[in-house]
Amino acid sequence: MITVTKTFFPPIEEYKAYIDKIWENKWLTNNGDLTKELTAKLTKHLNANHLILMTNGTLPIQIALNAFAEQGEVITTPFSYVATTSSIVWEKCTPVFVDIHPEYLTIDETKIEKAITNKTTAILVTHVYGNPCDIEAIDAIARKYKLKVIYDAAHCFGVTYKNKPIFNYGDVSVCSFHATKLFHTGEGGALFCQDENTYNEMLYRHKFGHDGPLRFHGIGINAKISELQAAMGLSVLPYIDAIIQDRKRVCELYDSLLDFKLLRRLKIRAHTEWNYSYYPIIFNSETELLKTEELLKVNDIIPRRYFYPSLSSLSYVNNNNDLKVSDDIAPRILCLPLYYGLENDNIKKISELISTALGKS
Ligand SMILES: *Cc1c(COP(=O)(O)O)cnc(C)c1O
Repeated sequence: MITVTKTFFPPIEEYKAYIDKIWENKWLTNNGDLTKELTAKLTKHLNANHLILMTNGTLPIQIALNAFAEQGEVITTPFSYVATTSSIVWEKCTPVFVDIHPEYLTIDETKIEKAITNKTTAILVTHVYGNPCDIEAIDAIARKYKLKVIYDAAHCFGVTYKNKPIFNYGDVSVCSFHATKLFHTGEGGALFCQDENTYNEMLYRHKFGHDGPLRFHGIGINAKISELQAAMGLSVLPYIDAIIQDRKRVCELYDSLLDFKLLRRLKIRAHTEWNYSYYPIIFNSETELLKTEELLKVNDIIPRRYFYPSLSSLSYVNNNNDLKVSDDIAPRILCLPLYYGLENDNIKKISELISTALGKS
């Protein structure tokens, strides 16, 4: 079976060597040696300003909202993974959906200002598929209305925009290191921020607010990463450049084999060094998508409908805004298998099946 993604497993001896260190240290969590080592290596690799490793990519979004959004209205995108919206509601804030750009699929920045009210406290938007939002426009709006900006950068490991790491934009950016993501620690994630004050605030909040064993800085939760997760990250990191290079090969082969008279692909924003994290294709209709998905399925190929349905249709949110682009694209976008080691023959087979389903061979 060929699935949409396949987790990268580093050589087991390399993983075991890190596990041995954990046994030597007799230390499993609370900022142990491996967590410190991974923090240092990732900070350097990503050229990050400040980075806090966490146990997944959802808690840092919730922690940032908890600190910044004051249970107000949060401007957000309907086209993302459910964690973007559920985190807003979980933190007792109200999501206010703004439609997306038809080609970049990130929030349509020209529609943000109309959605701002005196209850708006923050903007939480996704660099979907690793494609950056219009950062400059969002930054200008945030400054004008004194709003905090949180980027859901879950898909963005290794992405740079205007030669700067994508994580170095916004008040906070969050990446996921889930097993299905480009770089992973099994479960895991990181919060990135630009200044010392925010860093300290977020650091306290992710460890119950502890300021030493007996003192508390303020409210907090438990989002700490464990040494076992850090061990996986340390064994995957040496392969990350090879992983990205190999995914580039897969994407370029799809680019050359698929018929873009029948399909549309994602447009990457200018000045972006992309990470080949997803390969979404947009069909002319949902009927064509379903027909293609079915033909792939009977051939044991399982793509995924990232991201359907539109998050504005979740049972626990309300929406009064016009989201016609997102409502139009979400039902007809499909992510093709893309992972390290996906064989050329299989990429050819997938591309041929798509052409067959669309009535051309
Ligand atoms: C994966 C993902 C998350 C959540 O990350 P976890 O590490 O699974 O908690 C959040 N937002 C987006 C857009 C994602 O794809």
